[in-house]
Amino acid sequence: MSFKLKLKAEIHNPSIIRRPLRVTTIESYVANGRSPEDLCLIYPDRQDRAEALLSINWGAVVIYDQATSPFKGQIIQVTETADPLEDGDIIVTLNNAVYIVYKQCSDSNTLFLTERCDNLCIMCSQPPKNIDDSWRINDALGIINLLDDDPRTLGVSGGEPTILSADFLNILSNCHEKLPQTQLHILTNGKKLSDRNFINNIQQIGHQRVLWGIPLYGSTALEHDYHVQSRGAFNQTINGLYHLETIGQHIELRIVLTMDVLNNIEALCEFISRNLSFVSFVAFMGVELTGFAKRNYAQVYSSITEHIPALVSGVNILKLNRIQALIYNIPQCHLPLSLRELAVQSISDWKNEFPNGCDSCASKAICCGFFESNIYHKSGILIKSLNGINDESYIEVKEQL
Ligand code: SF4
Repeated sequence: MSFKLKLKAEIHNPSIIRRPLRVTTIESYVANGRSPEDLCLIYPDRQDRAEALLSINWGAVVIYDQATSPFKGQIIQVTETADPLEDGDIIVTLNNAVYIVYKQCSDSNTLFLTERCDNLCIMCSQPPKNIDDSWRINDALGIINLLDDDPRTLGVSGGEPTILSADFLNILSNCHEKLPQTQLHILTNGKKLSDRNFINNIQQIGHQRVLWGIPLYGSTALEHDYHVQSRGAFNQTINGLYHLETIGQHIELRIVLTMDVLNNIEALCEFISRNLSFVSFVAFMGVELTGFAKRNYAQVYSSITEHIPALVSGVNILKLNRIQALIYNIPQCHLPLSLRELAVQSISDWKNEFPNGCDSCASKAICCGFFESNIYHKSGILIKSLNGINDESYIEVKEQL
């Protein structure tokens, strides 16, 4: 499934206050009884009750082809019909566009808390910006308020969300209060977690359903600090990991497979086995070729196919120490059979693509496919349509540049 997160629109009578609105059908409004001011009504095709409908104080009304409706408040006239807004989506409007900040049908929704970060990773797919985007906190709180039926999962990300300190804790606390059953997946560089007071606050909030996704790029400070371009980051992140362990939190240790990481993968797995065996699992992640990864391509990217023996060995080191390994962002046909069962469908649905050649592949249903950006990168992509789930063949050749 893929869909657009930004739709072109003409906004009539725009609201002065920016705030998220929950998209609703009239049937859903009647069933849920939410305040109409929080809602954006999908103007129904049947307009026999139009006058009564439009006398309600909606936060906005969304229309497509219809002539502008006689609604006095904010009207969102979407000018592209692909991927229409659906009941339960949450939107904000800005500069003649609708941004879908929560997609009801997706399992990849994320509260994006800031574009700022205190690292500057050489392979960052979404380079940070040093701007004041504190309005995102209100957006996030608004989204949490508009959710119901606790979603199964919800990401919390940035930039670096923990640099928001008290605001981050406030978001965590709101999630705990309003979405107690939701599994949070918090992506952080882990540096702030070295602050004992911060950890105490997290413990006090007491949300148990959290998976902390924290990256590690080497077994030495030299390697890790180089990757994140921040001196002292390795020590802070390792301290943060230990602090999380002391309060019983679940950790996904994220290893992005850059050229240098691949060259040192066995040493890194040894390090994890000896020092970080408490993590819930280790995720080996293919590089997303956009942002700094695209700019630093020659320094960052190395085809996985050249490092298969080392990766197999690294996985075995973890296995011997009873540490679960998973592989993200690498298609099934790029892996030998022994690693394929570790590969999961990890790419967010809105940036996931399969080239045409995948259609006949027996593994498509369980394959992660590609990042859209990787498909259109100059390095091109190789696929090997597999004949069956146990097809042992895989791509061994060096990718063409
Ligand atoms: S051919 Fe396509 S669907 Fe099949 S394993 Fe390769 S990338 Fe996945």
